Amino acid sequence: MSRFEEELKRDKFVCSECSRCKKIVWPPSNYCNKCLNETTWREISRKGKLVEYSYNKGECFGIVEFESQIRIVGTVKGSERPDVGQIMNLEKCDYDGDEIFIFSSTVQRNGSQNS
Ligand SMILES: [Zn+2]
Repeated sequence: MSRFEEELKRDKFVCSECSRCKKIVWPPSNYCNKCLNETTWREISRKGKLVEYSYNKGECFGIVEFESQIRIVGTVKGSERPDVGQIMNLEKCDYDGDEIFIFSSTVQRNGSQNS
């Protein structure tokens, strides 16, 4: 298992970031794919923007962009249709041979949403 997968199993979302140009390197790698410098691991924000979604067999799958740099595919929880552009929360990540990402809407049903 890679470092990335181990962290996912602990419900931690980390990625490699270039120590020189600060680009987040996705998929995770020991070297920057732009300037070839070495990368370091850091935790990524768990809030991202929904770029696209689709339904398959009753399940909703979405692409969420984190830190305006990397796009992750995962399952979108909830019974309501999400809106493209809305902020999603990375509720859970895991690894069981495949990367598992579960997103949920950050909109609170009972009222105030931080903006
Ligand atoms: Zn770089």
